[in-house]
Amino acid sequence: MDFEYSDRTKELVEKLNKFMDEVIYPAEPVYEEQMEKAKDRWQLPKVIEDCKAEAKKRGLWNMFLPADPDSGDTHGTMGLSNLEYAPICEVLGRSAIASEAVNCSAPDTGNMEVFARYGSAEHKEKWLKPLLNGEIRSCFAMTEPAVASSDARNVECRIEADGDSYVINGRKWWSSGMGDPRCKVIILMGKSDPNAPAYRQQSMIVVPRDTPGIKIVKMLHVFGYDDAPHGHAEVIYDNVRVPKSAILLGEGRGFEIAQGRLGPGRIHHCMRAIGVAERALEMAIKRAKSRVAFGQRISEMGVTKAHVADMRMEIDMARLLVLKAAWAMDKYGNKEARQQIAMIKVAVPNISSKVVDRCLQLHGAGGVSQVFKLASMYAHQRTLRLADGPDEVHRDQVGRMEIAKYN
Ligand SMILES: Cc1cc2nc3c(=O)[nH]c(=O)nc-3n(C[C@H](O)[C@H](O)[C@H](O)COP(=O)(O)OP(=O)(O)OC[C@H]3O[C@@H](n4cnc5c(N)ncnc54)[C@H](O)[C@@H]3O)c2cc1C
Repeated sequence: MDFEYSDRTKELVEKLNKFMDEVIYPAEPVYEEQMEKAKDRWQLPKVIEDCKAEAKKRGLWNMFLPADPDSGDTHGTMGLSNLEYAPICEVLGRSAIASEAVNCSAPDTGNMEVFARYGSAEHKEKWLKPLLNGEIRSCFAMTEPAVASSDARNVECRIEADGDSYVINGRKWWSSGMGDPRCKVIILMGKSDPNAPAYRQQSMIVVPRDTPGIKIVKMLHVFGYDDAPHGHAEVIYDNVRVPKSAILLGEGRGFEIAQGRLGPGRIHHCMRAIGVAERALEMAIKRAKSRVAFGQRISEMGVTKAHVADMRMEIDMARLLVLKAAWAMDKYGNKEARQQIAMIKVAVPNISSKVVDRCLQLHGAGGVSQVFKLASMYAHQRTLRLADGPDEVHRDQVGRMEIAKYN
Protein backbone atom coordinates (compact mmCIF):
# COMPACT_ATOMS: atom_id res chain seq x y z
CA MET A 1 0.00 0.00 0.00
CA ASP A 2 1.24 3.47 -0.90
CA PHE A 3 0.90 5.87 2.05
CA GLU A 4 1.15 8.96 -0.18
CA TYR A 5 -2.20 10.59 -0.95
CA SER A 6 -2.96 11.02 -4.66
CA ASP A 7 -2.39 14.44 -6.23
CA ARG A 8 -6.14 14.86 -6.64
CA THR A 9 -6.69 14.16 -2.95
CA LYS A 10 -3.92 16.52 -1.87
CA GLU A 11 -5.36 19.30 -4.01
CA LEU A 12 -8.91 18.71 -2.74
CA VAL A 13 -7.83 18.49 0.91
CA GLU A 14 -6.02 21.82 0.55
CA LYS A 15 -9.07 23.45 -1.06
CA LEU A 16 -11.34 21.90 1.55
CA ASN A 17 -9.22 23.08 4.48
CA LYS A 18 -9.43 26.60 3.05
CA PHE A 19 -13.22 26.22 2.72
CA MET A 20 -13.41 25.00 6.34
CA ASP A 21 -11.40 28.01 7.59
CA GLU A 22 -13.17 30.62 5.46
CA VAL A 23 -16.73 29.29 5.36
CA ILE A 24 -17.57 26.35 7.62
CA TYR A 25 -15.98 27.26 10.97
CA PRO A 26 -17.36 30.84 10.79
CA ALA A 27 -20.78 29.39 9.84
CA GLU A 28 -20.94 27.12 12.92
CA PRO A 29 -21.97 29.86 15.41
CA VAL A 30 -24.34 31.33 12.81
CA TYR A 31 -25.97 27.91 12.40
CA GLU A 32 -26.37 27.59 16.18
CA GLU A 33 -27.81 31.09 16.46
CA GLN A 34 -30.26 30.51 13.60
CA MET A 35 -31.37 27.24 15.21
CA GLU A 36 -31.80 28.91 18.60
CA LYS A 37 -33.88 31.72 17.13
CA ALA A 38 -35.94 29.51 14.81
CA LYS A 39 -39.63 29.34 15.60
CA ASP A 40 -39.73 25.91 14.00
CA ARG A 41 -36.76 23.64 14.73
CA TRP A 42 -37.72 21.46 11.74
CA GLN A 43 -36.76 24.07 9.16
CA LEU A 44 -33.23 24.31 7.84
CA PRO A 45 -31.12 27.30 8.94
CA LYS A 46 -30.47 29.51 5.93
CA VAL A 47 -26.72 29.50 6.48
CA ILE A 48 -26.52 25.89 5.21
CA GLU A 49 -27.86 26.87 1.79
CA ASP A 50 -25.30 29.73 1.70
CA CYS A 51 -22.51 27.24 2.47
CA LYS A 52 -23.81 24.87 -0.23
CA ALA A 53 -23.77 27.62 -2.84
CA GLU A 54 -20.20 28.53 -1.91
CA ALA A 55 -19.09 24.88 -1.95
CA LYS A 56 -20.50 24.44 -5.46
CA LYS A 57 -18.69 27.57 -6.60
CA ARG A 58 -15.42 26.20 -5.24
CA GLY A 59 -15.85 22.81 -6.95
CA LEU A 60 -16.29 21.00 -3.64
CA TRP A 61 -19.40 18.97 -4.31
CA ASN A 62 -20.40 15.26 -4.38
CA MET A 63 -16.92 13.96 -3.72
CA PHE A 64 -18.15 10.69 -2.21
CA LEU A 65 -19.34 8.72 -5.25
CA PRO A 66 -16.86 6.22 -6.73
CA ALA A 67 -17.19 5.29 -10.39
CA ASP A 68 -19.52 2.32 -10.94
CA PRO A 69 -17.29 -0.79 -10.88
CA ASP A 70 -19.10 -2.26 -13.90
CA SER A 71 -19.99 0.69 -16.13
CA GLY A 72 -17.41 3.24 -14.91
CA ASP A 73 -20.22 5.81 -14.72
CA THR A 74 -19.53 8.63 -12.24
CA HIS A 75 -22.91 10.36 -12.71
CA GLY A 76 -21.15 13.62 -13.34
CA THR A 77 -19.20 13.53 -10.07
CA MET A 78 -15.43 13.42 -9.65
CA GLY A 79 -15.48 9.64 -9.34
CA LEU A 80 -12.97 9.58 -6.49
CA SER A 81 -12.03 6.17 -5.19
CA ASN A 82 -12.76 5.30 -1.56
CA LEU A 83 -9.06 5.70 -0.79
CA GLU A 84 -9.00 9.15 -2.41
CA TYR A 85 -12.16 10.22 -0.58
CA ALA A 86 -11.08 9.01 2.90
CA PRO A 87 -8.85 11.99 3.81
CA ILE A 88 -11.47 14.40 2.43
CA CYS A 89 -14.23 12.81 4.48
CA GLU A 90 -11.99 13.03 7.55
CA VAL A 91 -11.72 16.81 7.13
CA LEU A 92 -15.52 17.02 6.72
CA GLY A 93 -15.94 15.15 10.02
CA ARG A 94 -14.36 18.09 11.85
CA SER A 95 -17.62 20.01 11.67
CA ALA A 96 -21.19 18.78 12.08
CA ILE A 97 -22.32 21.00 9.19
CA ALA A 98 -19.51 20.41 6.67
CA SER A 99 -20.73 17.18 5.05
CA GLU A 100 -24.10 18.60 4.14
CA ALA A 101 -22.50 21.79 2.82
CA VAL A 102 -20.65 19.76 0.18
CA ASN A 103 -23.52 17.27 -0.41
CA CYS A 104 -21.65 14.37 1.14
CA SER A 105 -23.82 13.63 4.17
CA ALA A 106 -25.58 10.55 5.46
CA PRO A 107 -28.00 9.05 4.71
CA ASP A 108 -28.06 10.68 1.28
CA THR A 109 -24.64 9.40 0.25
CA GLY A 110 -25.64 5.77 0.85
CA ASN A 111 -28.99 6.30 -0.82
CA MET A 112 -27.45 8.02 -3.84
CA GLU A 113 -25.09 5.10 -4.20
CA VAL A 114 -28.09 2.73 -4.15
CA PHE A 115 -29.87 4.73 -6.85
CA ALA A 116 -26.66 4.93 -8.89
CA ARG A 117 -25.96 1.20 -8.65
CA TYR A 118 -29.37 -0.40 -8.44
CA GLY A 119 -31.93 2.21 -9.54
CA SER A 120 -33.83 2.15 -12.83
CA ALA A 121 -33.48 4.98 -15.36
CA GLU A 122 -36.68 6.44 -13.85
CA HIS A 123 -35.29 6.29 -10.27
CA LYS A 124 -32.11 7.99 -11.43
CA GLU A 125 -33.97 10.79 -13.16
CA LYS A 126 -36.54 11.35 -10.42
CA TRP A 127 -34.40 10.87 -7.28
CA LEU A 128 -30.69 10.60 -8.00
CA LYS A 129 -30.51 13.81 -10.04
CA PRO A 130 -32.10 16.13 -7.43
CA LEU A 131 -30.14 14.41 -4.66
CA LEU A 132 -26.88 14.99 -6.52
CA ASN A 133 -27.92 18.61 -7.03
CA GLY A 134 -28.62 18.99 -3.31
CA GLU A 135 -32.23 19.99 -3.99
CA ILE A 136 -33.86 17.25 -1.93
CA ARG A 137 -32.87 14.90 0.87
CA SER A 138 -33.71 11.27 1.65
CA CYS A 139 -33.91 8.66 4.36
CA PHE A 140 -33.34 4.95 4.82
CA ALA A 141 -35.93 2.90 6.72
CA MET A 142 -34.89 -0.53 7.87
CA THR A 143 -34.98 -0.63 11.69
CA GLU A 144 -38.26 -1.50 13.45
CA PRO A 145 -39.27 -1.05 17.09
CA ALA A 146 -40.94 -4.47 17.39
CA VAL A 147 -38.03 -6.68 16.35
CA ALA A 148 -34.27 -6.99 16.96
CA SER A 149 -33.25 -5.19 13.80
CA SER A 150 -29.52 -5.87 14.08
CA ASP A 151 -30.66 -9.11 12.44
CA ALA A 152 -32.37 -7.58 9.40
CA ARG A 153 -34.02 -10.92 8.59
CA ASN A 154 -36.41 -10.05 11.44
CA VAL A 155 -37.81 -7.01 9.66
CA GLU A 156 -41.60 -7.43 9.52
CA CYS A 157 -42.87 -4.45 7.52
CA ARG A 158 -44.83 -5.98 4.65
CA ILE A 159 -44.42 -5.14 0.98
CA GLU A 160 -47.29 -6.91 -0.81
CA ALA A 161 -48.02 -7.00 -4.51
CA ASP A 162 -51.51 -5.85 -5.39
CA GLY A 163 -52.34 -5.48 -9.10
CA ASP A 164 -49.84 -3.04 -10.58
CA SER A 165 -48.86 -1.71 -7.13
CA TYR A 166 -47.08 -2.70 -3.95
CA VAL A 167 -48.80 -1.98 -0.64
CA ILE A 168 -46.61 -1.29 2.41
CA ASN A 169 -47.76 -1.85 6.00
CA GLY A 170 -45.56 -1.64 9.09
CA ARG A 171 -43.79 0.47 11.68
CA LYS A 172 -40.23 1.74 11.42
CA TRP A 173 -38.08 3.79 13.77
CA TRP A 174 -34.71 5.52 13.67
CA SER A 175 -35.45 6.74 10.15
CA SER A 176 -32.77 9.42 10.19
CA GLY A 177 -33.37 12.56 8.17
CA MET A 178 -37.14 12.19 8.12
CA GLY A 179 -37.56 15.44 10.08
CA ASP A 180 -36.02 17.54 7.32
CA PRO A 181 -38.71 19.26 5.24
CA ARG A 182 -36.57 18.60 2.16
CA CYS A 183 -36.71 14.81 2.72
CA LYS A 184 -38.68 13.70 -0.34
CA VAL A 185 -37.83 10.04 -0.72
CA ILE A 186 -37.47 6.98 1.48
CA ILE A 187 -35.66 3.76 0.66
CA LEU A 188 -37.48 1.15 2.71
CA MET A 189 -36.52 -2.43 3.45
CA GLY A 190 -39.45 -4.76 4.07
CA LYS A 191 -40.64 -8.33 3.73
CA SER A 192 -42.06 -9.21 0.32
CA ASP A 193 -42.15 -13.00 0.67
CA PRO A 194 -42.17 -14.58 4.16
CA ASN A 195 -41.96 -18.06 2.60
CA ALA A 196 -38.78 -17.49 0.57
CA PRO A 197 -35.33 -18.59 1.85
CA ALA A 198 -34.19 -16.37 4.78
CA TYR A 199 -32.07 -13.94 2.73
CA ARG A 200 -34.55 -13.70 -0.16
CA GLN A 201 -37.60 -12.62 1.86
CA GLN A 202 -36.73 -8.90 1.87
CA SER A 203 -36.92 -6.23 -0.78
CA MET A 204 -36.00 -2.57 -0.96
CA ILE A 205 -38.54 -0.18 -2.32
CA VAL A 206 -38.60 3.51 -3.15
CA VAL A 207 -41.35 5.46 -1.38
CA PRO A 208 -42.03 9.13 -2.16
CA ARG A 209 -42.32 10.95 1.19
CA ASP A 210 -45.68 12.48 0.27
CA THR A 211 -47.41 9.13 -0.40
CA PRO A 212 -50.68 8.89 1.56
CA GLY A 213 -50.51 6.62 4.63
CA ILE A 214 -47.10 7.70 5.95
CA LYS A 215 -47.47 9.04 9.49
CA ILE A 216 -44.73 10.24 11.84
CA VAL A 217 -45.49 8.93 15.35
CA LYS A 218 -42.69 10.80 17.08
CA MET A 219 -39.19 12.14 16.68
CA LEU A 220 -36.67 10.21 18.81
CA HIS A 221 -34.03 11.91 20.94
CA VAL A 222 -30.38 10.91 21.17
CA PHE A 223 -29.16 11.43 24.76
CA GLY A 224 -31.71 14.26 24.87
CA TYR A 225 -30.67 15.87 21.55
CA ASP A 226 -33.46 16.09 18.98
CA ASP A 227 -30.90 16.35 16.13
CA ALA A 228 -33.24 18.84 14.43
CA PRO A 229 -33.74 19.65 11.64
CA HIS A 230 -32.47 16.22 10.52
CA GLY A 231 -34.09 14.06 13.22
CA HIS A 232 -34.81 10.37 13.72
CA ALA A 233 -38.43 9.38 13.21
CA GLU A 234 -40.73 6.61 14.29
CA VAL A 235 -43.09 6.12 11.37
CA ILE A 236 -46.21 4.13 10.59
CA TYR A 237 -46.83 2.92 7.03
CA ASP A 238 -50.54 2.32 6.71
CA ASN A 239 -51.56 0.89 3.33
CA VAL A 240 -48.93 2.94 1.54
CA ARG A 241 -49.33 2.26 -2.15
CA VAL A 242 -46.52 2.66 -4.69
CA PRO A 243 -46.25 1.49 -8.32
CA LYS A 244 -44.55 -1.81 -9.18
CA SER A 245 -41.68 0.16 -10.70
CA ALA A 246 -40.73 1.32 -7.18
CA ILE A 247 -39.00 -1.96 -6.33
CA LEU A 248 -35.20 -1.78 -6.45
CA LEU A 249 -33.36 -4.42 -8.43
CA GLY A 250 -36.22 -6.92 -8.02
CA GLU A 251 -38.23 -8.71 -5.34
CA GLY A 252 -36.20 -10.60 -2.76
CA ARG A 253 -32.97 -8.72 -3.46
CA GLY A 254 -32.99 -6.44 -0.40
CA PHE A 255 -30.01 -8.12 1.28
CA GLU A 256 -27.97 -7.89 -1.87
CA ILE A 257 -28.55 -4.13 -1.94
CA ALA A 258 -27.99 -3.77 1.82
CA GLN A 259 -24.54 -5.26 1.41
CA GLY A 260 -23.77 -2.74 -1.32
CA ARG A 261 -25.26 0.20 0.58
CA LEU A 262 -24.01 -0.33 4.07
CA GLY A 263 -20.34 -0.84 3.16
CA PRO A 264 -19.75 2.70 1.86
CA GLY A 265 -22.06 4.16 4.53
CA ARG A 266 -20.03 2.52 7.28
CA ILE A 267 -16.67 3.61 5.95
CA HIS A 268 -17.91 7.19 5.62
CA HIS A 269 -19.04 7.20 9.28
CA CYS A 270 -15.58 5.97 10.29
CA MET A 271 -13.74 8.52 8.16
CA ARG A 272 -15.78 11.34 9.69
CA ALA A 273 -15.27 9.90 13.19
CA ILE A 274 -11.52 10.36 12.75
CA GLY A 275 -12.10 14.02 11.90
CA VAL A 276 -14.24 14.38 15.03
CA ALA A 277 -11.47 12.83 17.15
CA GLU A 278 -8.83 15.10 15.59
CA ARG A 279 -10.86 18.21 16.29
CA ALA A 280 -11.58 17.14 19.88
CA LEU A 281 -7.87 16.50 20.45
CA GLU A 282 -6.91 19.89 19.02
CA MET A 283 -9.48 21.60 21.25
CA ALA A 284 -8.31 19.71 24.34
CA ILE A 285 -4.64 20.52 23.77
CA LYS A 286 -5.41 24.21 23.28
CA ARG A 287 -7.56 24.22 26.40
CA ALA A 288 -4.94 22.39 28.50
CA LYS A 289 -2.29 24.88 27.37
CA SER A 290 -4.46 27.83 28.41
CA ARG A 291 -5.25 26.71 32.00
CA VAL A 292 -3.11 26.51 35.12
CA ALA A 293 -3.87 24.28 38.11
CA PHE A 294 -1.69 23.62 41.16
CA GLY A 295 0.98 25.95 39.78
CA GLN A 296 1.34 24.12 36.48
CA ARG A 297 -0.17 24.32 33.03
CA ILE A 298 -2.56 21.40 32.61
CA SER A 299 -0.73 20.56 29.35
CA GLU A 300 2.54 20.12 31.28
CA MET A 301 1.17 17.56 33.70
CA GLY A 302 2.43 14.02 33.11
CA VAL A 303 -1.03 12.54 33.00
CA THR A 304 -2.10 14.99 30.29
CA LYS A 305 0.90 14.12 28.13
CA ALA A 306 0.15 10.41 28.58
CA HIS A 307 -3.47 10.94 27.56
CA VAL A 308 -2.46 13.04 24.56
CA ALA A 309 0.10 10.43 23.50
CA ASP A 310 -2.46 7.62 23.73
CA MET A 311 -5.01 9.64 21.76
CA ARG A 312 -2.44 10.45 19.05
CA MET A 313 -1.56 6.78 18.70
CA GLU A 314 -5.16 5.59 18.73
CA ILE A 315 -6.30 8.11 16.11
CA ASP A 316 -3.38 7.23 13.83
CA MET A 317 -4.09 3.51 14.21
CA ALA A 318 -7.75 4.12 13.39
CA ARG A 319 -6.85 6.14 10.30
CA LEU A 320 -4.50 3.47 8.99
CA LEU A 321 -7.15 0.80 9.45
CA VAL A 322 -9.74 2.94 7.62
CA LEU A 323 -7.34 3.63 4.75
CA LYS A 324 -6.65 -0.08 4.46
CA ALA A 325 -10.40 -0.83 4.32
CA ALA A 326 -10.88 1.89 1.68
CA TRP A 327 -8.02 0.46 -0.36
CA ALA A 328 -9.48 -3.07 -0.09
CA MET A 329 -12.91 -1.80 -1.22
CA ASP A 330 -11.35 -0.17 -4.28
CA LYS A 331 -9.18 -3.15 -5.12
CA TYR A 332 -11.46 -6.08 -4.34
CA GLY A 333 -15.00 -4.61 -4.11
CA ASN A 334 -17.33 -3.91 -1.19
CA LYS A 335 -18.30 -7.53 -0.72
CA GLU A 336 -14.76 -8.87 -0.65
CA ALA A 337 -13.71 -6.11 1.75
CA ARG A 338 -16.45 -6.88 4.26
CA GLN A 339 -14.14 -8.15 7.00
CA GLN A 340 -12.09 -4.93 6.77
CA ILE A 341 -15.29 -2.87 6.84
CA ALA A 342 -16.59 -4.76 9.89
CA MET A 343 -13.23 -4.24 11.62
CA ILE A 344 -13.29 -0.46 11.25
CA LYS A 345 -16.97 -0.30 12.16
CA VAL A 346 -16.05 -1.73 15.58
CA ALA A 347 -12.63 -0.16 16.09
CA VAL A 348 -13.16 3.43 15.00
CA PRO A 349 -16.33 4.50 16.89
CA ASN A 350 -14.87 2.90 20.03
CA ILE A 351 -11.67 4.90 19.59
CA SER A 352 -13.43 8.15 18.68
CA SER A 353 -15.85 7.83 21.64
CA LYS A 354 -12.93 7.23 24.01
CA VAL A 355 -10.92 10.11 22.55
CA VAL A 356 -13.82 12.56 22.81
CA ASP A 357 -14.52 11.38 26.36
CA ARG A 358 -10.93 12.15 27.45
CA CYS A 359 -10.96 15.51 25.64
CA LEU A 360 -14.22 16.32 27.41
CA GLN A 361 -12.56 15.46 30.76
CA LEU A 362 -9.66 17.80 29.93
CA HIS A 363 -12.16 20.62 29.48
CA GLY A 364 -13.49 20.24 33.02
CA ALA A 365 -17.18 20.94 33.54
CA GLY A 366 -17.27 23.07 30.38
CA GLY A 367 -16.80 19.82 28.47
CA VAL A 368 -20.26 18.54 29.32
CA SER A 369 -21.95 21.87 28.61
CA GLN A 370 -23.24 23.37 25.37
CA VAL A 371 -20.36 25.90 25.35
CA PHE A 372 -17.96 23.47 23.70
CA LYS A 373 -19.13 20.92 21.11
CA LEU A 374 -17.75 17.96 23.01
CA ALA A 375 -20.99 16.79 24.63
CA SER A 376 -22.80 16.53 21.29
CA MET A 377 -19.68 15.05 19.68
CA TYR A 378 -19.64 12.38 22.38
CA ALA A 379 -23.35 11.65 22.01
CA HIS A 380 -22.94 11.24 18.27
CA GLN A 381 -19.83 9.07 18.43
CA ARG A 382 -21.48 6.82 21.00
CA THR A 383 -24.45 6.22 18.68
CA LEU A 384 -22.09 4.96 15.99
CA ARG A 385 -21.52 1.85 18.12
CA LEU A 386 -25.19 1.04 17.35
CA ALA A 387 -26.12 2.75 14.08
CA ASP A 388 -25.53 0.60 10.98
CA GLY A 389 -25.37 -2.44 13.26
CA PRO A 390 -24.10 -2.80 16.84
CA ASP A 391 -20.46 -3.60 17.67
CA GLU A 392 -21.32 -7.16 18.63
CA VAL A 393 -22.67 -8.07 15.19
CA HIS A 394 -19.61 -6.73 13.38
CA ARG A 395 -17.23 -8.26 15.93
CA ASP A 396 -18.98 -11.59 15.40
CA GLN A 397 -18.48 -11.28 11.64
CA VAL A 398 -14.79 -10.46 12.00
CA GLY A 399 -14.29 -13.40 14.35
CA ARG A 400 -16.25 -15.79 12.16
CA MET A 401 -14.33 -14.84 9.02
CA GLU A 402 -10.99 -15.08 10.81
CA ILE A 403 -11.74 -18.52 12.26
CA ALA A 404 -12.94 -19.75 8.85
CA LYS A 405 -9.45 -19.11 7.40
CA TYR A 406 -8.03 -22.12 9.25
CA ASN A 407 -8.89 -25.85 9.19
C1 LIG B 1 -28.49 7.77 15.85
C2 LIG B 1 -28.99 6.57 15.14
C3 LIG B 1 -29.34 6.68 13.81
C4 LIG B 1 -29.87 5.58 13.13
N1 LIG B 1 -30.27 5.74 11.83
C5 LIG B 1 -30.90 4.72 11.20
C6 LIG B 1 -31.47 4.92 9.90
O1 LIG B 1 -31.33 6.00 9.29
N2 LIG B 1 -32.20 3.90 9.35
C7 LIG B 1 -32.39 2.71 9.99
O2 LIG B 1 -33.04 1.83 9.45
N3 LIG B 1 -31.84 2.49 11.22
C8 LIG B 1 -31.12 3.46 11.85
N4 LIG B 1 -30.61 3.27 13.11
C9 LIG B 1 -30.88 2.01 13.81
C10 LIG B 1 -29.69 1.08 13.96
O3 LIG B 1 -29.18 0.65 12.74
C11 LIG B 1 -30.18 -0.09 14.85
O4 LIG B 1 -30.47 0.45 16.11
C12 LIG B 1 -29.18 -1.20 14.96
O5 LIG B 1 -29.06 -1.90 13.76
C13 LIG B 1 -29.53 -2.18 16.09
O6 LIG B 1 -30.86 -2.66 15.98
P1 LIG B 1 -31.79 -2.62 17.28
O7 LIG B 1 -31.77 -1.23 17.83
O8 LIG B 1 -33.10 -3.21 16.91
O9 LIG B 1 -31.06 -3.52 18.36
P2 LIG B 1 -31.32 -5.07 18.66
O10 LIG B 1 -31.26 -5.84 17.40
O11 LIG B 1 -32.51 -5.19 19.52
O12 LIG B 1 -30.01 -5.43 19.50
C14 LIG B 1 -29.84 -5.01 20.87
C15 LIG B 1 -28.48 -5.41 21.35
O13 LIG B 1 -28.36 -6.83 21.35
C16 LIG B 1 -27.00 -7.18 21.20
N5 LIG B 1 -26.83 -8.06 20.02
C17 LIG B 1 -27.52 -8.05 18.86
N6 LIG B 1 -27.02 -8.97 18.01
C18 LIG B 1 -26.00 -9.56 18.63
C19 LIG B 1 -25.06 -10.58 18.27
N7 LIG B 1 -25.09 -11.17 17.05
N8 LIG B 1 -24.12 -10.95 19.20
C20 LIG B 1 -24.08 -10.36 20.40
N9 LIG B 1 -24.92 -9.39 20.79
C21 LIG B 1 -25.86 -8.99 19.93
C22 LIG B 1 -26.23 -5.87 21.00
O14 LIG B 1 -25.70 -5.45 22.24
C23 LIG B 1 -27.30 -4.93 20.53
O15 LIG B 1 -26.98 -3.57 20.75
C24 LIG B 1 -30.04 4.34 13.80
C25 LIG B 1 -29.65 4.23 15.15
C26 LIG B 1 -29.14 5.32 15.82
C27 LIG B 1 -28.78 5.17 17.26
